[in-house]
Amino acid sequence: MKYDVTVIGSGPGGYVAAIRCAQLGMKTAIIEKYNVLGGTCLNVGCIPSKALLDSSEHFHNASHTFKEHGIELDNLKVNLEQMISRKAGVIKSNNDGIAYLMKKNKIDVFNGLGSFVSKNRIKIASESGEGQEIETEKVIIATGSKPTVLPFLPVDKERIITSTEALGLKEIPKHMIIIGGGVIGLELGSVYARLGAKITVVEFMDAIIPTMDRALGKELQRVLKKTLGFEFFFQHKVTGATNDGKNVKVTAENTKGETVTFEGDYCLVSIGRKPYTEGLNLEAAGVQMGERGMIAVNDHLETNVPGIFAIGDVVRGAMLAHKAEEEGVLVAEYMAGQKPHINYNLIPGVVYTWPEVACVGFTEEQLKEQGRAYKTGSFPFKASGRAKASMDTDGFVKVLADKNTDEILGVHMIGPRIADLIAEAVTAMEFRASAEDVARMSHAHPTYAEAMKEACLAATENRAIHI
Ligand code: FAD
Repeated sequence: MKYDVTVIGSGPGGYVAAIRCAQLGMKTAIIEKYNVLGGTCLNVGCIPSKALLDSSEHFHNASHTFKEHGIELDNLKVNLEQMISRKAGVIKSNNDGIAYLMKKNKIDVFNGLGSFVSKNRIKIASESGEGQEIETEKVIIATGSKPTVLPFLPVDKERIITSTEALGLKEIPKHMIIIGGGVIGLELGSVYARLGAKITVVEFMDAIIPTMDRALGKELQRVLKKTLGFEFFFQHKVTGATNDGKNVKVTAENTKGETVTFEGDYCLVSIGRKPYTEGLNLEAAGVQMGERGMIAVNDHLETNVPGIFAIGDVVRGAMLAHKAEEEGVLVAEYMAGQKPHINYNLIPGVVYTWPEVACVGFTEEQLKEQGRAYKTGSFPFKASGRAKASMDTDGFVKVLADKNTDEILGVHMIGPRIADLIAEAVTAMEFRASAEDVARMSHAHPTYAEAMKEACLAATENRAIHI
């Protein structure tokens, strides 16, 4: 069999790349080592975590805020088995959806581990050990990433776990110790805190979500403490963890060099993810690696071997599903002779806690570092009529604009449903809008989106109306 393009890996990078290649008339194959399509994002990442975040949010609201809304419930309890089973159903329906899209676009799907025999020949080894080989003109490597683990802290998948196990626990932890105050730890911590677990976050840095604008982490930390009772220990370097079958002990060193011990029943290790290239046999094709286990690529996402591309978590840049998707489309269009472009500065980042956190563009810290003249405008949700109506008054929208031209340089939000609201900021910045442009656009009332308009009004001569 001979293909124009073979995609290795069926995550959001791989399957989107395959669809775009097929749309552009290329005979396309996709290889996935598991027997379901969708990769990390669909099976053990974005989608299951959001399914559990939604379920746990319903429970938390029912037990904490319904009463104030005038809704009284008796004997409210969690059926974790049903919650996990609903999550599995959501995954299954999306797995089926991707399989349908492969069929619709006439993409051949191969299940098995893909590895290079040579630059143009790929071997597919199925679980049963059977193998077959296909010929291909070009290859897109989209093999994604795996959780990073600490060499001195073995993950036993029982009580010392990664996000993958945390998405399918059989009981609600009493006390979960989370190593790492990044996006995944805070999201999964929120799930179990809402269901009744005590959450302790042990973080090496001096803030949670430290790569985002510092104002966001500060506000999120305050709200998670207030609403879910999160405990945070910053500047603590974890040195080990043990599991005695019922409980875990995590040890860390504080800034004074003292050893601090945390005791709980689960320890979630969420310190990041690393690119995954195991079993690809890249040497057979002559593909060179870059730094930190990533595949080295140029601006067109082409490796050192012409015709072999790599996208998504396995290459440099943010480890995000939508970044992988954009890269999949870029590579397909580049192969077809088009001139696609990705503005990496405008890839939004989102944390699906409550309140949600979202950002795009430069942070205030980055602008200071660049020495760029900028101005800020902020609007708090406590001044929003819509937020008052839903009792979601924590958070704010902060807009950073160029001091001289008024062009929006960064938007940083924390508040209700802002994971969707950030799209307005991306659109505005993609068209290089000024804060004044957005400030003059009509925003429906009452909506959370009005906070974006008000923050832009605040950034242009401090003329926010409702504060
Ligand atoms: P992946 O999705 O990792 O897919 C790679 C695929 O390649 C896998 O299916 C793997 O089995 C397959 N593969 C690997 N090697 C081979 C081989 N040799 N042969 C055949 N197949 C192979 N991102 C967001 O944008 N939003 C979120 O809300 C979000 N939430 C997340 C929550 C969690 C808990 C986690 C863990 C991640 C989350 N992410 C989120 C990150 C997101 O999942 C990744 O950025 C995204 O999946 C990367 O896509 P990808 O296509 O590069 O790789």
